[in-house]
Amino acid sequence: MSQKVQIALAPGDGIGPEIMDACLSVFEAAGVHEHIEFIPVEMGSRVFAAGDSRGFTDEAVETVERTGLLYKGPMGTPIGGGGKSINVTLRKTFGAFANLRHFQSLPSVDTVFSRAGVPVDIYVVRENIEDTYGGIEHRLTNDVVECKRLISAPGCDQVHRFAFKAAARFGIKKIHCAHKANIMKMTDGLFLDRFHAEAKHFPDIETTDVIIDALCMNLVLRPEEYQMIVLTNLQGDIVSDLAAGLVGGLGFAPSANIGDQISIFEAVHGTAPDIAGKGVANPTSLLLSGLMLLRHIGMLKQAATIENALLAALEDGVHTGDVRSSNDPVGTNDFAGAITSRLGSLPSGKEARPVPEESTPHFTPPTRPSVNRLIRTFETVESAVSGCDIYIDTTITPLELAQRLERLVEGTAFKLTMISNRGTQVWPTGSPYTEIVDYFRVRLELRDPAVVLGQMGQMPTIYLLAKIAEKFQVIDFQPLKYFDGKPGYSLAQGQ
Ligand code: NAD
Repeated sequence: MSQKVQIALAPGDGIGPEIMDACLSVFEAAGVHEHIEFIPVEMGSRVFAAGDSRGFTDEAVETVERTGLLYKGPMGTPIGGGGKSINVTLRKTFGAFANLRHFQSLPSVDTVFSRAGVPVDIYVVRENIEDTYGGIEHRLTNDVVECKRLISAPGCDQVHRFAFKAAARFGIKKIHCAHKANIMKMTDGLFLDRFHAEAKHFPDIETTDVIIDALCMNLVLRPEEYQMIVLTNLQGDIVSDLAAGLVGGLGFAPSANIGDQISIFEAVHGTAPDIAGKGVANPTSLLLSGLMLLRHIGMLKQAATIENALLAALEDGVHTGDVRSSNDPVGTNDFAGAITSRLGSLPSGKEARPVPEESTPHFTPPTRPSVNRLIRTFETVESAVSGCDIYIDTTITPLELAQRLERLVEGTAFKLTMISNRGTQVWPTGSPYTEIVDYFRVRLELRDPAVVLGQMGQMPTIYLLAKIAEKFQVIDFQPLKYFDGKPGYSLAQGQ
């Protein structure tokens, strides 16, 4: 017999161990263990409690890096103390850049849409590494805090390429890219541009874009119009939970975090502390995530067999207590037993999954790279400095700030062109009705753009920063640059 595929296994916290046991019992009954060896790893609350602020041990990291696969239950984030979410850390550390979630109507799971006879079958692909989930946050002044939102071209490319390839594999005909590029023209704009760039390689898949707020309304009104939606990290997180609500709640939503080397399979929901230890949690989300894992390693026959048994159990009205319509709910173990006893059965409805005759598991574990891989999209871009934005902590008026700065930069190559507060221009024009806080952006640009752009490098702006820092409380500095002749910065509101 061929070697078993090794998979790191972390049951998680709260309801995690209960639902993981239930899923493993179904896998075992379906013969999955003949092809898979689960290797337990230490992650979650016990590791946090033992004083490791990462929430996982070195041995756990070694096992995940060696196997390239992690099947995990939900894990809690310690509240307070600045501790980061272990779930987010795992995805980011191991480069699992695309979060794939599948939301489908399930038999006899009562929802507004099932009652109306509207089928829901939506994949959400969420970028998993970047955006505000970088968690790069600072307190800037007495009154202002900041979270940096980073979006990179290669980060967008990875997630879009994954989405298109997955769509082609699943037979999906149309992908929506959701965004807020009308407001965040550079960050969401880049995400959207890279979506269109990737779409050119997949001419058979129809593409369209939709503004995130309109998407949320449409999803509630007409979910049947969506097959796959690709989104940035935070917007994707929110839309995922909205989509979970369309099909009966978090207990039914599976999720896979896919990277080029390492992939992580987990339920969408959290540790459900309110029901932990009671034996009533719904294992469906974790089970369906496990089926994504089985399909990822080629165990298509076992995945389809288990999914059909699950659908048959649901169709027979076997439900855990979280299902709104359940009159006589069963516990976690009995639910797993109901699936096990139906292995080999098909649901009567049209949702039965085709079961291939045979399928051979195949997965090549990653080869550990010796250094971090640099991912790039644009390699030959000409850039040139044309000025800088300097951020200042002050409570003086915009006019007074402008007058003092103009005096300071007299005789330099730069002139003050704009002051904004919370992104709205307050000088040279503006309205006294614009309320301001103690954090200003002042824009200084070359007096003579012909001098430009480039030959001077960044040093003159650094000297300027030092000059201004002698008189003001400087918080941040951003060089203004042109890239291939186009400005790499946005205008202020009202500029
Ligand atoms: P939650 O998803 O744990 O619970 C929200 C509600 O849904 C609760 O009422 C809960 O009982 C119910 N619920 C969730 N899963 C269920 C299931 N399988 N069966 C039946 N009911 C279920 O969200 P929360 O309470 O906001 O978070 C609790 C903890 O989980 C937090 O520490 C959070 O950080 C963590 N969390 C972890 C993950 C993850 O591991 N990927 C995801 C989300 C939240």
